[in-house]
Amino acid sequence: MSDSSAMNAELTLTDQVYSGDPLQDRETDQYRNEYVTTFVEKWDELIDWRARAESEGQFFIDVLRARGKDTVLDVAAGTGFHSVRLTEAGFNVTSADGSAAMLAKAFDNGQARGLILKTVQADWRWLNRDIQGKYDAIICLGNSFTHLYEEQDRRRALAEFYAALKHDGVLIIDQRNYDTMLDEGFSTKHKYYYCGDQVTAEPSHIDEGLVRMVYSFPDGAEYTLNMCPIRKNYVRRLLSEAGFQRVRTYGDFQETYAENDPDFFVHVAEKS
Ligand code: SAM
Repeated sequence: MSDSSAMNAELTLTDQVYSGDPLQDRETDQYRNEYVTTFVEKWDELIDWRARAESEGQFFIDVLRARGKDTVLDVAAGTGFHSVRLTEAGFNVTSADGSAAMLAKAFDNGQARGLILKTVQADWRWLNRDIQGKYDAIICLGNSFTHLYEEQDRRRALAEFYAALKHDGVLIIDQRNYDTMLDEGFSTKHKYYYCGDQVTAEPSHIDEGLVRMVYSFPDGAEYTLNMCPIRKNYVRRLLSEAGFQRVRTYGDFQETYAENDPDFFVHVAEKS
């Protein structure tokens, strides 16, 4: 990298706000400092909608249809990938996110496809203050739940999700396979979710309390996300303790898998 492109990347990086030692930034509110407009603008390059749609196929649509669900609250809408897909598949979707920049991009992405997304800015910890009514299903996808650092915030968010669901509602949460990352180190086939082949996504730091991911773009820009590496069985336990009666966990969208193999887990938690 030339001096000037290194400097540009550095300048872009500083758009995100971290403290003097970013490895100490381990708070639930940190996401507000990370999804800055310039990163949001690049997010779709990172996730590559077409490749992502191909790799996840009909999975979420099938899970929802099999249970006869119609109204869906996408609580981590991001730039709208799942909100758009599910709206196009005929579901009645509301798109929520704590980041105004993300929601604005989601709205634009919907509009570009001839859709008017219903958007609500809402932090999960106060979700029911900002949304109305109860939903058949809530989705929290793209490894979003990992932004919560304190256990009480995780419990609180799950209680809010639970309360926003109808009596027979279903919550779908996904997460990176942090167990393997913590126990065996990082490796990814880059197959699911972060599919853009021009973008590299790698951890610069891993410990039991923090995974710091670095996303490097072909133009030299770099962005980071600090995430809390939650283990699979811990999340399953939190879901049960939040009151969900049944929790089924898929590995890379498959029902059966070798424990350390999948990149991602998807938990499907049912209220009744
Ligand atoms: N679901 C999208 C996707 O898969 O492309 C976005 C995933 S992005 C990794 C995580 C999203 O969660 C961001 O849009 C961020 O603003 C949102 N988020 C993180 N913590 C949140 C919180 N406490 N309340 C509401 N939204 C939050």
